[in-house]
Amino acid sequence: MTFDPLRIRSEFPALDQNVNGKPLVYLDSAATSQKPRHVLRALDDYYERDNANVHRGIHELSRRATEGFEEARGKVARWIGASDPAEVIWTSGTTGSINLVASAWGLDNVRAGDEILLSVLEHHSNIVPWQLLARRTGAKLRYVEIDEQGRLILDDLDSLLTDRTKVVAISHVSNALGTVNPVKRIAAAAHARGAVVVVDGAQGAVHTKVDVQDLGVDFYALSGHKMCGPTGSGALWGRRDLLEAMSPYQGGGEMIHFVHRDESTWAELPHKFEAGTPNIAGAIGLGAAVDFLSEIGMDAIQAHERRLMEYALEKVGALDGIRIYGPESLDEHSAVVSFTLGDAHPHDISTILDAEGIAIRAGHHCAQLVMKRYGVSATARASFYLYNTEEDVDRLVEGLGLVVGIFG
Ligand code: PMP
Repeated sequence: MTFDPLRIRSEFPALDQNVNGKPLVYLDSAATSQKPRHVLRALDDYYERDNANVHRGIHELSRRATEGFEEARGKVARWIGASDPAEVIWTSGTTGSINLVASAWGLDNVRAGDEILLSVLEHHSNIVPWQLLARRTGAKLRYVEIDEQGRLILDDLDSLLTDRTKVVAISHVSNALGTVNPVKRIAAAAHARGAVVVVDGAQGAVHTKVDVQDLGVDFYALSGHKMCGPTGSGALWGRRDLLEAMSPYQGGGEMIHFVHRDESTWAELPHKFEAGTPNIAGAIGLGAAVDFLSEIGMDAIQAHERRLMEYALEKVGALDGIRIYGPESLDEHSAVVSFTLGDAHPHDISTILDAEGIAIRAGHHCAQLVMKRYGVSATARASFYLYNTEEDVDRLVEGLGLVVGIFG
């Protein structure tokens, strides 16, 4: 099937509206993506026909809900190249997934004096849970630095990895700069030192073809809402042997086998990590998002985003006073243009664009270590997804022209 962005765009009802009297240009998909009709219909169908609790009732609705919920798990497993759906744990998103690993795996395995290796490129979701673990255990945090183009400086990797390194937690794709990290290479180096590799895939599962087996990682965290799915949906993939050896994260219904007065035994994977009533509609909606994206094909989506980025970097890059942060090579730079423009504060840029119906993000993007690296408090960020077009880029550039006119 040929990739037709206008046809794809027409599947997203929220994109078809005026904002401040102008047709909406949505360039904030790195924060959350819009949702296609296919996903909205799946949510409606579930609530209108199949709504019941999963794994509990011996009745038709519960059977249907359970079937939809478990089928969706299989779809996510296939999307990321996992061979076993039981290795996919439903979570509330990347933040929930990383907290699960840092807490459940971390408290079982990390001791005083051990080291946790992160990078300064990380979203706060892949820093703070590890800081909490370090505080509880007495472990030490170490960081891979980034160069001027926002790429990890991996020359130091061998000295940063030591026999005390228990875990390496790294993003697949940076939300702040768009940097695509060489996860496979990092995972191989980490494993050579016996460390476990946790990947923040919040942007990775959106913009790259993910194959957790090929990447050779141990845990992969993702958010449904960034890949056309509902908010509050997400997953953690983990290697079966690690998940089986781990203590549960939260206790409650569904995650037990037997409950006795003083202790309990745990359910099989994946249920051991899914205490309480899960986000059933969210999981089904995420499964529908995977169907929608699979139908279009990740290769086509990636090729479209790359063309758009090439166009955007050229057009935005030609503006007076612009500074674009992030890698120069499109092989290493995913669908985010992070920039500052002269003396205009990113919040002012965003406000001026909003008046033109253009939605971008301004701020530290939950990546304050990245901002600190460049000595700025914030950047403006335009982020692209499969439904964006060259016309969106033209509107952005026109809007930025107004900013230049106001701020000089
Ligand atoms: N990591 C990265 C790279 C992200 O972009 C985000 C979302 N901005 C997160 C983690 C956190 O994801 P969520 O808010 O869906 O838990």
